[in-house]
Parts: sequence; C-alpha cells; structure tokens
Amino acid sequence: MTRNPVERALMARGVDSALARKLREEKWTLAKLQLQRPEKLLELGFTESVVPKILGKSRPPIPPDVLIKTLYDNRWVCCVCRDAERPVVVHHIKSWAESRDHSPANLAVLCSIHHGEAHSTHALELTLTADRLKAEKAVWEQDVSRLDPLAIFKATQLMSCQWWYFNHLRVFEIAEHVGVEITQLKGFQGALRNGACDDEGYLCSSEGLVYVGQARSLSLYRYMSNMLKAAIEHTCVRNISDDLDRGTLDILVTPGDLVFVQGSYHFADMPPDGSGADMVRGRRSVNKVEITFVFDRNEGTSGSARSEWLLGVRSLGCLLRANKLERDLKGTLHIEATVLAIRSAHEELKTRMYEIGLYQSGLIGHEVEDEELEDFDPDYDEDDGRIDDSLYS
Ligand SMILES: [Zn+2]
Ligand SMILES: [Zn+2]
Repeated sequence: MTRNPVERALMARGVDSALARKLREEKWTLAKLQLQRPEKLLELGFTESVVPKILGKSRPPIPPDVLIKTLYDNRWVCCVCRDAERPVVVHHIKSWAESRDHSPANLAVLCSIHHGEAHSTHALELTLTADRLKAEKAVWEQDVSRLDPLAIFKATQLMSCQWWYFNHLRVFEIAEHVGVEITQLKGFQGALRNGACDDEGYLCSSEGLVYVGQARSLSLYRYMSNMLKAAIEHTCVRNISDDLDRGTLDILVTPGDLVFVQGSYHFADMPPDGSGADMVRGRRSVNKVEITFVFDRNEGTSGSARSEWLLGVRSLGCLLRANKLERDLKGTLHIEATVLAIRSAHEELKTRMYEIGLYQSGLIGHEVEDEELEDFDPDYDEDDGRIDDSLYS
C-alpha cells in the first residue's frame, strides 16, 4: 500500500506502484528526479509517456486527494483482474489530452497488463474500451465497499471473537434507518421471549446493567450481533486500522462515516453524573491521530467485558461513527466519534490480511450462516473464567 508522499507524487504523474516504490527505496524524490535529463529518467525505468509528466511538461499531476481516494476505493488493485500481486497505475479513462479531466469518475486503477490493453493502438482488438473500464470499475468499487464489513463479521465467526459492547440504541437506529426488518432477525424471538426486547424489537429499558441473567444475556447478545451485522451489510464501513495517517484520513473520512479501527485503546472512567450510568472515555492515539468517544460501560455484554475488557489499556476493534474531524495547531488530527460496538481484536483485521487471504480464497464474499453464534459459550461470563489473552491477541 502506498501511503508514502514520494510514491504518491510519482503515481499522480502516471508512474506504476512498483517503480514508485523502488525509486522511493532508492531515496529518489520528485524534486531530484525533475533535475535529471530525460535519458537518465528512461534509464531509471520510466516509460516515454511518463517522462514528460515527471518533468512537468505535459499534464499537471492528479490532485493528491483524488489520487488517494481513487486508490483506496479500489484497494490498490486493478479493477479488471483484481490481482493484488500486480503493480498498478492510475489511468485516465478518457485521456487527459482529450478530457482535461482529473476527476475520480475519469480515473481507473489498472495493472500494467490491463493498462497496456487500455492503451492498445490496435483499435480492432481493443477490448478494454472506456465503457468496459467504467463498468469494471463500478463493480469493483462496489465490491470493495463490501469487503470491510464482511471481513469484520467473518473474523468474528471464524475466530470466535467476542463483541464486548454494543451501543444498543444507535445500532437499533442505524438498522431501522437502512431498512433492516428488525422482527425478522435471527435472535429476535429469543430476545422477546426472555424479556430483552418488546414485540417491535425495542430494547426493554433497564436500570444499570443491560446484560443480566444468563438466558436474557445470551438471547440479547445474539439478537444484537445479528442486528449489527444486518445494519452494516447495508452501509459502507471502512476499516482504517492501518491507515491512521493524518495525511490521508481527513480525505478518506468525512463526518457521518462508519469506520472500524483496531488497535490499542485506553479507557478512562468519567466522574459519575448521578444517572447511574458508568461512563467511560475511550481513546486511541497514534501517528498524531487521536480518536475519542464516550460510552456507558453498563452496556458491556458480560461481566468480563465490564470488569476486564473495557478497562485500562486494551487491544480491541471498535466500530465507530466519525462525528467531527479537527486538526489542532500542532497538526494532530482529532476524531470525535460515537462508538457503535467494541470487539476483541483479530490480527487479520489490523493489517487487512484478508485482502489476499480470506477474500481470495473465497471465504469472504458470500453469506455465511451464523452457526458459531449458536455455539456461543454460555460460560464465558463466569467471574472466575479468565479469558485466555493469547486467543485474542
Ligand atoms: Zn489487471
Ligand atoms: Zn493510462
């Protein structure tokens, strides 16, 4: 993945991702390259069409925010073959000379092979027409927007990960808003039977702890995890765990967006406000990006969630809605968020390994029955039942 500014500057000028990385590793900068003679640039591996772009003699570079968004929306992968191994180049669907159009709609991420095809001069053999490119790009970008939510749930099921917290009201609101049939959800009948919700699916209000009583807790957990899953299947969630870089985040995330961030969080108790709530401030701070949110620990899904996982410093995954993004005078980007759910960490989500692993193996990308939840371990809530950290690290 290319988050380095030198690589981005080169890609904005038509250089493919592999060459951009190689030159950056060789300590080249755009300024140094621009001092070179064209022959030297060809020697370094630039193609003849790219040389004038580097030297600033043909078109202006693609603006950084458009470049970043286009690459992210396509996962740095060619929209035609989707082969994650191949270097990519950002291509103008309608050529710059013709269109003077740097907008995302006119840009496609292509591997070198398909880029070659798109530029093929054998008009009769031209299979990668502008229309076909647009269609491939639309389908791939749609698929990409589905990858993160699927992976978050797939990982939950595969690794017997646990949701430690739900923001019950907000999850319900989002589910309703996106048209989820609440009373058709798996787990609804059980939750209703155990008095956890009413016949319209609304949570029965309770003072203090939300998860009390084993049968009620289990049915509520199942109901809520299915509700959350259904809700985010209809929305776009971006896993930004490995993109906590203030240079790209404020381009990628706008207020109202749902994001998933896995990493180390610090939880600090807030003074009691007299309402009986157990308010906590959650905070993650890394690379001059600070994410903060406030939640009620009483909504933790179990005793161990409340007494262990939502205390102190923990490695967890949080599903958040970004409310406000603000950069302070020192350059730190502050993201004020609402937390929708908190779960145990899963290494694959941190580094997006599922791109090349789960996704390519076909494990992600189709519906999986929630058998794992049926096997939900009722003993996990026992007070002496210490959770094995190695399972979740
Ligand atoms: Zn390709
Ligand atoms: Zn091109």
